[in-house]
Amino acid sequence: MTKEERIEQTEKALVHTYVRFPRIFERGQGVRLYDTEGKEYLDFASGIGVMGLGYGNEKLNEVLKNQVTLLTHVSNLFYTVPCAEAAEKVLKNSGMDRVFFTNSGAEAVEGALKAARKYYYTKTGEAGGEIIAMEESFHGRTMGALSVTGKEAYRKPFEPLIGGVHFAKYNDLDSVKALVNEKTCAIILETVQGEGGIFPAEKDFLKGIRELCDEKDILLILDEIQCGMGRTGDMFAWQTLGVRPDIMTVAKALGCGVPVGAFLMTENVAQKSLAPGDHGTTYGGNPFVTSAVAAVQDIYEEEGILDHVKEITPVLTETLDKIKDKFDFITAHRGLGLIRGLEFASSPSSVVSAAHEEGLIVISAGHNVIRFLPPLIITKEDVKEMEEKLTRALASYTS
Ligand SMILES: *Cc1c(COP(=O)(O)O)cnc(C)c1O
Repeated sequence: MTKEERIEQTEKALVHTYVRFPRIFERGQGVRLYDTEGKEYLDFASGIGVMGLGYGNEKLNEVLKNQVTLLTHVSNLFYTVPCAEAAEKVLKNSGMDRVFFTNSGAEAVEGALKAARKYYYTKTGEAGGEIIAMEESFHGRTMGALSVTGKEAYRKPFEPLIGGVHFAKYNDLDSVKALVNEKTCAIILETVQGEGGIFPAEKDFLKGIRELCDEKDILLILDEIQCGMGRTGDMFAWQTLGVRPDIMTVAKALGCGVPVGAFLMTENVAQKSLAPGDHGTTYGGNPFVTSAVAAVQDIYEEEGILDHVKEITPVLTETLDKIKDKFDFITAHRGLGLIRGLEFASSPSSVVSAAHEEGLIVISAGHNVIRFLPPLIITKEDVKEMEEKLTRALASYTS
């Protein structure tokens, strides 16, 4: 089958929810991807921040092969060793007290919202807790996660969504305060806005939200699905910014390629929220995916991933600063650690495609940002190669 035939076969069969780039990938190794024509790519997107350890990590692969042979699923009506180990490790590295494993990021957000609603119900004896979310946020595509996603075009066709959600301006504490009422049960935000265009939360903003939540017994939910799992040089971005949530969501790099998410909470939230019968999942936390979670936590430690991110961050930052200064149509460079964005005067889609042609995978965010989410194992040489390839691709920019 030719490449074109394979693409047509896919397009005819799948629900058309994605406009895909015309590349068929076959395998990956380290920070590199290879397509069916044998072309090599340096990957600075890591499958939207999923492949934190890059492709083909041997320790992870060994654990997965072994677990496939032993047991992949048994349901949450029973205990398994990988689930217990994964939970203990994730709690240790997050400083949270309880975890619930899900199959995706959106489901982690669903669980977080349900926990917050139930907390309000336990506290007041009434349903109807309201939620403050942020404009330009992204929390996923299921009905609940969509309800708190701050992009009208994503929500509109699917209304009515869950009620009692109000949108504030990100990094604008007064706009959040203006929306608080006695029914507010939670404030949800990404610690670093990803899809919206790579906007890190300002420290004072987060601190102000934390104080507001403490004062009014409102739960702070931090969505760490994209920015968490080591990307900022700490296991979670809120650890970098110094503000602890009451509930947090994680997914993407949690299983480094194995589909798994989680929501975590403090003991206080656990005691007053979800109880037996309130929530569940058939697959969630099965021994296959949790063996990945536990292995990933171990590998981060053994391979010193967080220290490496701290070391390589200034290299990537300076390189992107330099690129920004060289081209006057690049209007900003933002980010934290290895989640970064270059903002353009208008859509950079021609540059993204030209980069792919040069053998560099980058993706966009928002309507005018090129997003950088490299595997956490990138080296100085990889950053240099990215710079060369991107610089050539930038010649194709047309405003
Ligand atoms: C990707 C993402 C989600 C949704 O995760 P899925 O696994 O696609 O459901 C939610 N929140 C943030 C911040 C994300 O980046």
